[in-house]
Amino acid sequence: MSARELRGGPAADALLADARTRLSDLSATPHLHVIRLGEDPASVSYVRLKDKKAREIGLHSTVHALGEETSEEALLELIGTLNHDEHAHGILVQLPLPRHVSTEPVIAAIDPFKDVDGFHPSNVGSLWSGLPGLPPCTPAGVMAMLAHYGISAAGRRAVIVGRSNIVGKPLAALLLRADATVTIAHSRTPDLAQVTRQADLLFAAVGRAGLITPEMVQEGAVVVDVGINRVRGPERDRLVGDVHPDVATVASAMTPVPGGVGPLTVAQLLANTVRAAELQHYQRHAA
Ligand code: NDP
Repeated sequence: MSARELRGGPAADALLADARTRLSDLSATPHLHVIRLGEDPASVSYVRLKDKKAREIGLHSTVHALGEETSEEALLELIGTLNHDEHAHGILVQLPLPRHVSTEPVIAAIDPFKDVDGFHPSNVGSLWSGLPGLPPCTPAGVMAMLAHYGISAAGRRAVIVGRSNIVGKPLAALLLRADATVTIAHSRTPDLAQVTRQADLLFAAVGRAGLITPEMVQEGAVVVDVGINRVRGPERDRLVGDVHPDVATVASAMTPVPGGVGPLTVAQLLANTVRAAELQHYQRHAA
């Protein structure tokens, strides 16, 4: 068997087309503010991509590129200003932050209605309670991809390898909401292969190249590879996932890396920005 390739591009385009349609119902163009501290090359390139894609679909976008030495107080002050600016609809602080700045208070300082990364404790609570809110981009993007390719999670066994707050745990909440039976595995899970072989839908979000091998996958499973790992090639570095390419001989469908989940994460961020503007619009009109 050779797995059907679940490419992220078409699913991301569908998500963006929907977000673009919803723009016309808003009284003002949503404005995304991305805050970056320092010059970490990966952060610089992610922020550039977010800014470019936001402009492409017709959003306003501002990047606040602050120095590495910016204090936590100064960062909190900027967040406070943006929280009170009714023309700032989405606020995202690019992670990781420099060591002298604590992540949790910074995230908690963002107005939950503007928290387009979906990391604020209030949005985490809404996610697990099934209340409206802003979901984290990568897991919500994964669900959008499954929907795009007509893959239902209802009544199926889902196994997620990885339990981070940004991928594994919120993905579990979304899969539960979609009526899957969910197991989360992690670095302390004994006999990982025995657990992953139970999966009809297998999600890898670990950050270890080729961790998931064909013997760990049930025949016909759908495999979603969230991992992004930089490995040294003979000439230059390349990006690979957590799933070994040979898994395509066992799975019925599988996401490539790169070109799988990656494009969905950015598309979902922009969809969240439109959603944030909608929530703020309703909030103002309900007041
Ligand atoms: P974290 O490092 O925060 O979490 C990794 C998880 O994997 C942890 O729960 C850890 O377990 C678990 N783990 C580590 N080693 C093993 C092992 N040998 N067996 C089973 N579980 C293991 O990573 P993130 O969740 O932030 O990211 C995961 C991957 O997804 C990374 O490659 C990242 O680059 C990628 N990513 C991709 C995105 C995209 O847009 N495509 C967006 C975000 C992330 P424990 O908790 O016990 O330590």
